[in-house]
Amino acid sequence: MKKHPPRPRHNPQRMCSMCREKMDKRTLTRIVAHPEEGVVVDVTGKKNGRGAYVCHKLACRQKVMTSAVLEQALKTTITAAEKAAITQFWQSTNEPQHVS
Ligand SMILES: [Zn+2]
Repeated sequence: MKKHPPRPRHNPQRMCSMCREKMDKRTLTRIVAHPEEGVVVDVTGKKNGRGAYVCHKLACRQKVMTSAVLEQALKTTITAAEKAAITQFWQSTNEPQHVS
């Protein structure tokens, strides 16, 4: 019987819209342009709509708010209130993230 070589654990990878680094999906925040709710953080990862990911790095989270990459990725405009809500979400979930 042939032995399979050890396979890396399967972790879905997603790309950060800001730094364009690919990383474990769990370290990224999914932001969705929801048809009814507008641009919101998708905590469950199951919301409908066009999504974009932002990684855990503070630099990305700060830069993404002042750059147009999210709006380009979501193909919509993000209001100041929506940006504030996303920023608040990050502040409330400011747990240390481990990256291997
Ligand atoms: Zn990033």
